[in-house]
Amino acid sequence: MFSARKKPQFTTTDVFPLTDAIMDFDDSASEGIRLSRRELDMRRLPGQRTTLQKWLIVVCLLCLYLMVVVVFHALGMVQPRTVYALVAMMGGGLLLFLLIFRSGVNRRLREKRLKFPIVFLALTGMLAVFYLEPVTQIVLAPFAFVALAYGMYRIRRALAYLLGFYLIAGYAAVVALHYWEQQNAALLRLELMHLLALGAAVPAFVFLIGKVQLLHHILHRANRKIKNIQEDAQRDTLLGCYNRRYIVTALEEQQQLADETGIPLCLAVIDLDHFKRINDALGHLGGDEVLRAFARVAQENVRAEDIFGRYGGEEFLLIFPGTALLPALNTCERIRAQVEAQTWKGLPRGRVTVSIGVTQYVPGESVLEFFSRADTATYLAKEGGRNQVVVEEPTRKGDPSVTVQPVPDDGEDAEPAVTVPTPLHPGRRYASG
Ligand code: GH3
Ligand code: MG
Ligand code: MG
Repeated sequence: MFSARKKPQFTTTDVFPLTDAIMDFDDSASEGIRLSRRELDMRRLPGQRTTLQKWLIVVCLLCLYLMVVVVFHALGMVQPRTVYALVAMMGGGLLLFLLIFRSGVNRRLREKRLKFPIVFLALTGMLAVFYLEPVTQIVLAPFAFVALAYGMYRIRRALAYLLGFYLIAGYAAVVALHYWEQQNAALLRLELMHLLALGAAVPAFVFLIGKVQLLHHILHRANRKIKNIQEDAQRDTLLGCYNRRYIVTALEEQQQLADETGIPLCLAVIDLDHFKRINDALGHLGGDEVLRAFARVAQENVRAEDIFGRYGGEEFLLIFPGTALLPALNTCERIRAQVEAQTWKGLPRGRVTVSIGVTQYVPGESVLEFFSRADTATYLAKEGGRNQVVVEEPTRKGDPSVTVQPVPDDGEDAEPAVTVPTPLHPGRRYASG
């Protein structure tokens, strides 16, 4: 782009050949550009539930069971004391886990959602109700499966089998207690038949649910891999900063955002000076190291919301969302000075310098116009002797008058004249260095 070094004149395909290809590449990434980091962190994956929703699910499941027991009570098959006991157990259990979650004790455990103790207590409660009212054995089996399924994604397979064993053993204990207390052979026969069915079905259920659990893990891992791949696709492999694909999309997104909200937006085009000579002096690997050092300096000097990326070769874009021209210029100047301050062994002058062009977005203009203005400023910085920041102030749309403050051109790499007036005047170019 900058190699010809004549005043750039662009068409869509010349400057942003990637633009169309990007549009259908990674929607989530470009969407993320509009959001602050905090907003992004707070976003949940599709299907992920809030804490309130998770609690509501538990309460609803408990209420379903309670509702069935209440209906049994209405039919005269369950005594009121059982309903009260059940309500007390549910309330106590919910309160207990609420306190545990609030205290944060669970965060120290491996399984932070405490699904195992929750399911364990649910099964214990149901066994207690079964003990109080033998008729509720009809409800116990289906709801025991619901409880096991509830914990299945979090509870390890071995522990799930343990819970299944606890259910069967508990059921057998209650059956024995019933017979011991009532000596009712008919009840015993019925309960033993239920026990047999439960004993056969629970291990099979845990086994099958385990397969679903495996699928869940595979999907989870694949999802993580996709995220890593998406992240890699946005990054420059050599420097780790954003790549051209990402930075160009970001620029388009930020331009739209600036149009929609009216917040200021600035763009800097940065080009390392005489990079060919640096390669000649240090070799390509040395040149790569210089690029890395520059990318580090640039990223250390920008805010979290600024977007820095490699446009190509030794050319970079720096987008300043929500930033006016003067602060953007100050950041560019800081980067320029810090790059210059670093000494490099093996280089003729022991220094690396950068030329930076910076401009502010004029609402309503195209990305190309915006980009071209920043690029023109970089061109002027090169023309002016390199190692400087040139500001191309935007003029109102349709105003062709741009006053150029002459920048001394006394040969290559001349020390630039430095004047950065504040405030900046519309339609002017300024050089600093
Ligand atoms: P100017 O000051 O006018 O920008 O001169 P320049 O030499 O920096 O610019 P030019 O565009 O002529 O040369 C850029 C050089 O950057 C050419 C290319 O070999 C080198 N380059 C591009 N990408 C890389 C890279 O990833 N690593 C290394 N080591 N060199 C690179
Ligand atoms: Mg270049
Ligand atoms: Mg260069």
